[in-house]
Amino acid sequence: MDQYVLVLNCGSSSIKFAIIEAKTGTAPLHGLAENLGTVSSKFGFNYQNKQHSAELPADASHQQALTVIANTLKKFETLSQQIVAVGHRVVHGGETFTHSSLIDDDVKQAIEQTSLMAPLHNPANLAGINSAQTTFPDLPHVAVFDTAFFQTMPKHAYLYALPYELYQQHHIRRYGFHGSSHYFVAHEAANALKKEFSNCNLITAHLGNGCSIAAIKQGKAIDTSLGFTPLEGLVMGTRSGDIDPSLPTYLIEQLGYSVDKVSHLLNNESGLLGVSKLSNDCRTLEQEVKEGNQQAKLALDMFIYRLVKYIGSYLAVVGPLDALVFTGGIGENSAYIRENTINQLGHLGFQLDIDKNLEMRFGQSGLISCSSSNPIFAIATNEEWVIAKDAIQFAH
Ligand code: AMP
Repeated sequence: MDQYVLVLNCGSSSIKFAIIEAKTGTAPLHGLAENLGTVSSKFGFNYQNKQHSAELPADASHQQALTVIANTLKKFETLSQQIVAVGHRVVHGGETFTHSSLIDDDVKQAIEQTSLMAPLHNPANLAGINSAQTTFPDLPHVAVFDTAFFQTMPKHAYLYALPYELYQQHHIRRYGFHGSSHYFVAHEAANALKKEFSNCNLITAHLGNGCSIAAIKQGKAIDTSLGFTPLEGLVMGTRSGDIDPSLPTYLIEQLGYSVDKVSHLLNNESGLLGVSKLSNDCRTLEQEVKEGNQQAKLALDMFIYRLVKYIGSYLAVVGPLDALVFTGGIGENSAYIRENTINQLGHLGFQLDIDKNLEMRFGQSGLISCSSSNPIFAIATNEEWVIAKDAIQFAH
């Protein structure tokens, strides 16, 4: 009998769910409850590639949304009976969680303690866990952490050059995020190369609305661009990535910004959106570039330049490279971003196969480089499958 996992990703105002077949990663049923806690809350799901919607009360809570999800599952009885575990995506596992964990009271308390470092995400993840445990009391619930894959980073990579007490007393350090995605595409690349993962040196770039890049040496993450929070590093859709750390104090002291305004500026108004003054959506900006919009071109040039710099610096630390991997909505689909990035890396042994680069999109995965190049892959990520495979370890 096939075994399925209910994978839940609970955000502050949304719940994404998917029923994942643990052996193949296929998702016969998946859906989204969104705008929770507002008048426009809504729910839709996709069953075997057909889209459906279902009633969700206005102002629906997480608990109400999970009840609607449970009722939806009941309609697909045969499938539901084969669900053997619930996997929860949890954004921040701090230093406590190096692996996925069966959720008990101690695990919930540890997730709560980490909430200070991820105030937008962990409380929502925890609320989702509590509601789901009420709704699905007979299934094992497993927490899978976005940070866990990066717990192998060495201290010299994860520490900030700040007074050491800040790390000792307040756990201020770099954690990294998007771990399940980097883990997945790195293993896919190792499989494609027919190499043991523990022998692979890889650079994986997850480029979506949020962006991060990871250096993986001998199968272990040794560095990544997201830090204490998911704000550091690459230029993102609406997040600035790296800036001079003095800028927030300048904005507050000289320009009269409030702390909240600075935080909103860096997280929600910057990145591709802030520079282009137009959109955080790469597709829109690419279209604008075609039509001669210089501001859109500047935003994409900055995105690419920062990415090129990170690839160069990670090449210096991973040792002889086995492959560079692109993933995420932009990495999987944007031939423009991949081409303009790789064009700047010719002197470091990278060359695209132009036709393969143009073809590789919309969920396809494969090699996009010439035979003379360091291998370059575009790989469709599947974070849900990583969560499902971890969760099923705890099935009865
Ligand atoms: P994600 O956060 O991984 O869902 O990725 C969202 C980003 O992927 C957005 O910036 C989209 O514009 C971008 N994206 C999705 N499809 C394409 C495409 N065909 N070409 C370029 N960018 C794309």
